[in-house]
Amino acid sequence: MAKMTKKRRGPQQAPKAELNVPVRVGQTVEVEITGLNHEGAGVGRIEGYTLFVDGALAGEKVRARVDHVKKNFGFAKLASVMEASTARSMPPCPVYDRCGGCSLQHLVYEEQLRHKQQIVKDNLRRIGGFSVEGDGAITVHPTLGMTDPWRYRNKAQVPIGEENGALVGGFYAEKSHSIIDMDECLIQHQANDEAVAAVKKIATSLNISPYDEVRHSGLLRHVVVKVGVKTGEVMVVLVTTEETIPRVEELVEAIRTQVTGVASIVQNVNPDKTNVIFGKKTVTLWGSDVIYDYIGAIKFAISARSFYQVNPAQTEVLYNKTLEYVGATGTETVIDAYCGIGTISLFLAQKSKHVYGVEIVPEAIEDANRNAELNGVKNATFETGPAEVVIPAWKEKGIKPDVIVVDPPRKGCDEALLTTILEMKPQKVVYVSCNPSTLARDLKVLAEMYEVVEVQPVDMFPHTGHVESVALLVRQFVTKQ
Ligand code: SAH
Repeated sequence: MAKMTKKRRGPQQAPKAELNVPVRVGQTVEVEITGLNHEGAGVGRIEGYTLFVDGALAGEKVRARVDHVKKNFGFAKLASVMEASTARSMPPCPVYDRCGGCSLQHLVYEEQLRHKQQIVKDNLRRIGGFSVEGDGAITVHPTLGMTDPWRYRNKAQVPIGEENGALVGGFYAEKSHSIIDMDECLIQHQANDEAVAAVKKIATSLNISPYDEVRHSGLLRHVVVKVGVKTGEVMVVLVTTEETIPRVEELVEAIRTQVTGVASIVQNVNPDKTNVIFGKKTVTLWGSDVIYDYIGAIKFAISARSFYQVNPAQTEVLYNKTLEYVGATGTETVIDAYCGIGTISLFLAQKSKHVYGVEIVPEAIEDANRNAELNGVKNATFETGPAEVVIPAWKEKGIKPDVIVVDPPRKGCDEALLTTILEMKPQKVVYVSCNPSTLARDLKVLAEMYEVVEVQPVDMFPHTGHVESVALLVRQFVTKQ
């Protein structure tokens, strides 16, 4: 699952004089926007040169200030909207233009969903060479969205710093490491916002020093809060530069009494000069080491460091669709490649004979085994390692899956894995993807043997450009096994 922040652009490179770029940095241009790119920026053309305008929408005419120029395309910031799209909405977040966490709040939600469906179609057509309209086309369903697309995130990771002598916590201002204080994030669960605000207040009152990134001094670097949306349990993680926290008993007592639902207070020590949030050492200061949550009927233990889907409500929608596509009846052998903490595996185990999960991160496999035990699941086996190595070994051992589910990171499946899938010839492949372009690339390879029957986009990250989808592939050519 991709991290939910906009990519920072690299340093400005002046284009060479001989290149025919019709705009220059700093110039304000008028441009008509014809579409949205996969990050949600408006796409316009000036004398055939492509300009991406953050905050502009398809069908609009805008004024934009060019801030970055490359050989074949450039970037601009919206200065003013001359002719607005009817799909434009007022972003409710007061720091929307400065934060960088969301990129589509200015587009009405129904249009965000349509846009995500279109992105999937465009990629399947352009990269996969598939037909997406008319006879024989792949059905790309309308995106499954949220009824209430706000306050869905179950995890907040807030950098702490100092501003005019006071402790602040919020987000990094664009292209800088200065922290803008923020009390409320509209895509964050209310419990997380409240917990972060309380911890900031408590830390200030106890004179706990905020981290200074430049001097590499101060104690409190990050406040991370997780909530089990179904259980209401809250975990507060304090990431500090040192092990010793002055007045730690008072700190714990205050958090315990002021944060609703708190079930776990954890300290993580990160002494390094790094952008990585967590250090190696984690200590439970009070309460449980983990909090719990449910996706469907499956219970998950969430620790300070463990990966867990950030939008559990939509995760359930995505996994139910995956389960439906797998179509297990109780007799099937299923492989879950890139299984993480075994979320999909445990979901599938309820309906299959046996599930084999493989994942490269050892801690995630530990969590997967723990979660299997927690749910009394006995028909799931997990193995650590690269899917492209472990699955061929399973093949050699004679494991014959009826269905292979893959849920790879943004870069998609390894080629060797795709080859193994074609050799193992499962009846179905169900491809869960967080990146429509690598989905399209990989489906093109699998189309040699599989019919891509349908694709279902699911909106896991409303108001951001992220597009998640699940595809059903059914084996076309029956060959002797
Ligand atoms: N299916 C899980 C997680 C999917 S995210 C869920 O729904 O929660 C993709 C996962 O692939 C990550 O956990 C990442 O650690 C893992 N991964 C990345 N490269 C891998 C590889 N080559 N082999 C196996 N797992 C890999």
